[in-house]
Amino acid sequence: MLTDSYGRQIRDLRISLTDRCNFRCFYCLPDGEPPLARKATILTFEEIVEISEIFVALGIEKIRLTGGEPLLRKDVERLVEKIARLKDPANVSKELLTEPEANPKSEIRNPKLLDLALTTNGHTLDRRAEALKQAGLDRVTVSLDSLDPANFRDLTGVDRLAETLAAIAAAKRAGLEPVRVNAVVVRGRNDHEIVALARFAREQALAMRFIEYMPLDSKNEWDRKLVVSGREIRQTIDAVFPLVLSEQTRGSATAWKYAFADGAPGEIGIIAPVTEMFCGACSRIRLTADGQLRTCLFSTREHNLRDVLRGGADRAEIVRFIREAVNRKEPRHTINDEQFAPASRSMSFIGG
Ligand code: SAM
Ligand code: SF4
Repeated sequence: MLTDSYGRQIRDLRISLTDRCNFRCFYCLPDGEPPLARKATILTFEEIVEISEIFVALGIEKIRLTGGEPLLRKDVERLVEKIARLKDPANVSKELLTEPEANPKSEIRNPKLLDLALTTNGHTLDRRAEALKQAGLDRVTVSLDSLDPANFRDLTGVDRLAETLAAIAAAKRAGLEPVRVNAVVVRGRNDHEIVALARFAREQALAMRFIEYMPLDSKNEWDRKLVVSGREIRQTIDAVFPLVLSEQTRGSATAWKYAFADGAPGEIGIIAPVTEMFCGACSRIRLTADGQLRTCLFSTREHNLRDVLRGGADRAEIVRFIREAVNRKEPRHTINDEQFAPASRSMSFIGG
C-alpha cells in the first residue's frame, strides 16, 4: 500500500501519454506546447506498462490516461489492452508483497486494477470508442466547455464542436459509461452556458463535471476574478433544475455529486479545488509523458522515475524511489496563500 506522510492512501494514478495537443484551450495551452517532451524523452508503451504494473502491485486501483491529448498518441488501443490486463490479479506480480514492510494481513494480497479511464477532448473518439472499449477501457471523460460553436472555437481555438459531440455519442454507444463530460467554467467566457450544459447532461444522461478554473495555464494569465465558485455553479443550476446531493461525503473523489430532484437522468458534479480545497482526502499521483512523478497538480518539484527505470534499477529500487516520492507528497496546494508558487509545469504537461 502506498501511504504518504500524512496517512493518505494513494490509489489513483494519472498517466499523461503526451504533452502535445491539437486544441488551444485558453485556460491550458493557448500557444501550443514548447518542444520539451519529445520522442527520446517520452516513455514508451512498454515503460508505461511496467510502471503501471508496479503501481498496481503497490495498491493503485484506478488508472486514468490523459495528456495533452492522449488520443494523438498512436495505437493507444494497444496500450489500453496491455494496462487492462492488470485487472486480472494473475498478471500483477506478488513479489512486492514479500517486502518486509508489506503487511501480510493487508487487503492488497491480491492487487489488481479496478478501473481504467481516459480523458480526451474527443479527437478521433467517434471512430475509436468501440475499439478502446474492446481493448478494456472502462470509462471516458470528454471535455466540453460550450455548446455554442462560436464560443467553443473561442475557448478551445479550434472549430470542432461537432466532432466533440460525435465523440460523446460514440462513447455512449460503445458503453464507455457513465460518460463523463468536463467543463471548466470561466467568468465572462462560458458561465452563461452553465444551465445549457446542465440541460445537455439531463437530455443525454451524462455525468457532467463543472470545474473551477485553476492557475495551471501555460501563459500564467489565471486571475482569481475569473473563477466561478463551485457554490455559484451549483446555485445557478439549482435555480432552474433543482438538485439533490447524491452522497453526503465525497471520500477521495474530487466532485460533490448531485442528482436532478425531478428524477431526470444525468448527474451534476462540482469540482471546486480553489474555493473548497479537498487536498486532505487526495489519493492521486501523476506520471508525466516524460516519466516524471508528480505528487500534486501544483508540485514545484518532480521525481525522475524515467531515469531510474532507464538506468537499469531493479524492481526493489524502483519501488523504493516511488515510496520516497509518495512520502514527500505535499500536504495541500497553496492557491489561496499569499506566497502561492505556481506549479512547475502547466496542465497540458501534467495531465489533468
Ligand atoms: N486533452 C484532454 C482534454 O482536454 O480532455 C485531456 C487533458 S486536459 C489537461 C484534462 C482536463 O483538464 C480537461 O478536462 C481540461 O478542461 C482540464 N483543465 C485544463 N486546464 C485547466 C485549468 N486551468 N483549470 C481547470 N481545469 C483545467
Ligand atoms: Fe488540449 Fe485538453 Fe489542454 Fe484543451 S484542456 S489544450 S484539449 S490538453
